[in-house]
Amino acid sequence: MYTLAIHGGAGTIVRSEMSSEKEYKYKQALIEALNAGEFILKKGGSSIDAVEASVKNLENCPLFNAGFGSVFTNDNTHEMDASIMEGKTKNAGAVSGIIGVKNPVSLAKEILMKSDHVLLSGAKALKFAIDKGLELYSEKDFFTPSRFEQWLISYRNDEVMLDHSGDSLIEKKFGTVGAVAIDVKGNLAAATSTGGMTNKKYGRIGDTPLIGIGTYANNDTCAISCTGHGEYFMRSVVAYDVSCLIEYKGLSLQAACDEVVKNKLVKIGGEGGLIAIDKLGNHCLSFNSEGMYRGFCNSYNEKQVWIYRD
Ligand code: ASP
Repeated sequence: MYTLAIHGGAGTIVRSEMSSEKEYKYKQALIEALNAGEFILKKGGSSIDAVEASVKNLENCPLFNAGFGSVFTNDNTHEMDASIMEGKTKNAGAVSGIIGVKNPVSLAKEILMKSDHVLLSGAKALKFAIDKGLELYSEKDFFTPSRFEQWLISYRNDEVMLDHSGDSLIEKKFGTVGAVAIDVKGNLAAATSTGGMTNKKYGRIGDTPLIGIGTYANNDTCAISCTGHGEYFMRSVVAYDVSCLIEYKGLSLQAACDEVVKNKLVKIGGEGGLIAIDKLGNHCLSFNSEGMYRGFCNSYNEKQVWIYRD
């Protein structure tokens, strides 16, 4: 038995602002990301490879704020954060403020597998990526007109913005991407990747590369990937909190996720959501915003994607 869940960010994603063409594109992109991970799980592959494959697929899609579709920083660059964790060994790899690597999630996995460390950052992390032969991208390769337009608006207003679509300031969302999976051997894994916030300054880092906050996996409890306003997720230690509610309080996956996302985070004004799978293969896609790009599939041939709350 296997289960895979993915997200492409949460936020004020309103139906009235979405054309049917755009909705179709998002749904197709989510299905393709599910297919990429499921291809591995179906063959008996590992959950860590599956979550990397799904996240890589989302990073390569310009619709989401990660990898190729990453937002611009205040310096007109792209600084990305990513992390990955394996539930069996509890090994983890993460990277923050990385510029120039095509797929930050693969760099995080390389850090997990081939370094003695958990979190590398900035220019030195790029050196590690080069040494390991990862595919590089120049600033020019990361340029997307819609992100540039978003950035110009934020830059002129001197604001750090959530991700929003170029043509509409009403649609504000967190565009981070993530995946969680359990493979046929019962091993859990989680991965998350983001471009962060538009026009971010001073090397701002969010929750995404932080193990136990944006990403967590533990074979005794669950695997989690978060998306939302990173500062609030950090203060709430979101992913580990969900795992602890299962481990120490015996809550079900759904109850643990709802407690953190719909109660604790809401109380401090933290908007966003998460995806999670527990050790039995149950999945939960929980969010407190208007919508979350999300989907899941499993070995019972179920496959579904959603955007809005209803
Ligand atoms: N959590 C991310 C951050 O704060 C943003 C997101 O989820 O879109 O960097």
